[in-house]
Amino acid sequence: MDATAGETDYVDVLIVGAGISGIGAAYYLQRDHPGRSYAILEARGASGGTWDLFRYPGIRSDSDLHTFGYEFKPWRSDVAIADGEAILAYLRETVAEQGIDRHVRYHAKVVAADWSDAGARWTVTVENTETGSRYTVCARWLFCAAGYYRYDEGFTPHFEGRERFTGPIVHPQHWPAGLDYAGQRVVVIGSGATAVTLIPAMAGTSGQAGTAGHVTMLQRTPSYVLPVPSRDKLNARLTRLLGFERGYAVTRRLNITRQVALWRFCQRWPKAARKVIRDLNVKLLPADFPVDEHFSPPYGPWDQRMCMVPDGDLFRAISGGKASVVTGQIETFTEDGVLLSDGRTVPADIIVTATGLNVAPFGGIALTVDGAPVRAGDRLVYKGMMLSGVPNFLFVFGYTNASWTLKVGLVCENFTRLLRHMDARGHGTARPVVADAGMPSRPFTEFGSGYIVRALGELPRQGSRAPWRVSRTYQNDVKLLRRTPVDDPELRFEAAR
Ligand SMILES: Cc1cc2nc3c(=O)[nH]c(=O)nc-3n(C[C@H](O)[C@H](O)[C@H](O)COP(=O)(O)OP(=O)(O)OC[C@H]3O[C@@H](n4cnc5c(N)ncnc54)[C@H](O)[C@@H]3O)c2cc1C
Repeated sequence: MDATAGETDYVDVLIVGAGISGIGAAYYLQRDHPGRSYAILEARGASGGTWDLFRYPGIRSDSDLHTFGYEFKPWRSDVAIADGEAILAYLRETVAEQGIDRHVRYHAKVVAADWSDAGARWTVTVENTETGSRYTVCARWLFCAAGYYRYDEGFTPHFEGRERFTGPIVHPQHWPAGLDYAGQRVVVIGSGATAVTLIPAMAGTSGQAGTAGHVTMLQRTPSYVLPVPSRDKLNARLTRLLGFERGYAVTRRLNITRQVALWRFCQRWPKAARKVIRDLNVKLLPADFPVDEHFSPPYGPWDQRMCMVPDGDLFRAISGGKASVVTGQIETFTEDGVLLSDGRTVPADIIVTATGLNVAPFGGIALTVDGAPVRAGDRLVYKGMMLSGVPNFLFVFGYTNASWTLKVGLVCENFTRLLRHMDARGHGTARPVVADAGMPSRPFTEFGSGYIVRALGELPRQGSRAPWRVSRTYQNDVKLLRRTPVDDPELRFEAAR
């Protein structure tokens, strides 16, 4: 059966979101269960999620595409840190190649999903984002691939005197097409991945036409900034030697190991890691640059997401005099820039608030189980992909210390195995249930990035033992999601009706 929401009001699996996760979910589902009906509901008018939404100058990945790409579709380039356009093209190619496009319904925002035990199905309320009209779709399974942040509004803290500033104030999530910043003094507020991407892109590195006059990175707290090669030379050699498929597979495996090794090194030996990063920074910055003031965070490496800069482009922009860094507390915006609490001023013609995202777990969908609202903060995460007490519901929340997509593949493999297991035994419902209700719990993640910390109360919690702990490495998840049997005593099955 091959049904699309809208043609019928029932599908076996309803996927929410046509970003990298939702497209991946569709691939695995149709590969392993070609007879099952599914649909993808996408709130926006296009696929690609993050990679279609963000349009700021220089938008790119910060993890390598050999691990950010799907396991099943080789990334056919040795450019490892790729721009947004190339990533979007890769995703759209996947959609077209796999015939996923005919399953996607656009402008379809899932606003609520109600599970009924009696019907053993989800009734999902969908809003047409063009007309505002609502309709329902029923599904046996709900697969939430809705990302982790609000699409309508990025995060901007309150800035005193904002209305005084006479130039444009821009948030990278809503970049105005055609914003002319040539020759302008730009202040980018922030020190995260977006800021370190934007600054060299707007500054250029050799004063070419169309680039800003000067870009200032204005940060309250420094981040770790690690230069990485934009091209993967080993991958180039491997693909020449082994062909694209096998070369990609080997590169992917090596890079997964490298990512985990780097993360473990940083967590186990933070002092040594801090020194290595500092030494690399010193090498790439001018001799008199105050490295400790601007690139020495008050937390350990990888306690928050580390910023990767391809070929040290940020440092080149600083060394070339096109960009600079100011670390300080903003007192107020003024007519022509920013005044800091220590009395310094930073002049600006344009201010970019690269201040982050608003986390929105589960696509902001109001979930109920038999009429009772599901508050994510009251639930425990099962195997990092289901919620306690919520039947036939899966979600993807990728790694914060490695490529997001690595988790997508493992969750989807586990899901299709689970479906096979249930089919073979005539089960219709799978509900994670904690055996010992008093098990101590802790936050979903220890990751200290501001956008995560702000949202911890809205995220589900994790338990103190498997399968209720959220793994932070791909290797652990391989054991849990790929190698461990799916019939777990804490996953309660009920017969299909
Ligand atoms: C600028 C930027 C750069 C990043 N770079 C990297 C990187 O290099 N490496 C990395 O691992 N991670 C990176 N990330 C994290 C990144 O978001 C994920 O890696 C990945 O793109 C998430 O994919 P996704 O499909 O899960 O979510 P998204 O890309 O957010 O897609 C979710 C989709 O679901 C849709 N949706 C949401 N709610 C609903 C709803 N209620 N109903 C219907 N549809 C809905 C959205 O419209 C969207 O299309 C980056 C994030 C940002 C913002």
